[in-house]
Amino acid sequence: MNCPYCGYHDSKVIDSRDVSDGIRRRRQCLSCSSRFTTYERLQPASLFVIKKDQRREEFNRNKLLTGIRKACEKRPLPTGTVDKLADDIEAELYHLGKAEIPSAVIGDMVMERLKSLDYIAYIRFASVYREFTDITALKQEVDTLVSSEVEAPSSTAQLPLLPAEEIKGLAKGRGRRRI
Ligand SMILES: [Zn+2]
Repeated sequence: MNCPYCGYHDSKVIDSRDVSDGIRRRRQCLSCSSRFTTYERLQPASLFVIKKDQRREEFNRNKLLTGIRKACEKRPLPTGTVDKLADDIEAELYHLGKAEIPSAVIGDMVMERLKSLDYIAYIRFASVYREFTDITALKQEVDTLVSSEVEAPSSTAQLPLLPAEEIKGLAKGRGRRRI
C-alpha cells in the first residue's frame, strides 16, 4: 500500500489491533513519516442459498442468527452460545467452497447442532424449519428424539431440564417415602 501523502511504496506498522471484523493497522511511511490507517478484512466469496421454491438469495448471517436465537430464547445456554453456533455454521458453509447451498442443508446443520445442545431449542427450531403442520408430525419428531436419547447426546453435553437441586430434591423425596 502506497503512502497516501507522498506515494512511497513502503511503510512500517506501528500499531495493530483486532476490530470486529478484521484488523486495523496504524502505519508510518518510511519516506515522509506520515501516519495512516489500513484495515484488513476477510472478503468471503459470495454464497447463495437455494430456497425451497428454487429462488436464490445471498447468504445472510443475521437471518441465520435470528432463527437460532428464537429457538434458544430463554433456554439456560451460556452467553455467546448462539453467536458461536452461527459462526461455526457460517465457517463450515464457506469451507464447503460452494457458490450455492440449499437452505435445507443449512437447516439440517442447525438442527444437528441444536440436538446436541438443547432439546427444547431443537424442537422449537425443527417445528419452524420442518413446518410441522399438525401435532402428530411434531409428536413423531419428539418420539424419535426420546428413543434416540440412549446413544445421543452424552448426559454431560445435554443441559438438564431440571436444575440439579430440584433433581436432588426429587431423589430425597423418593427416599423419604421409602422410610
Ligand atoms: Zn509518505
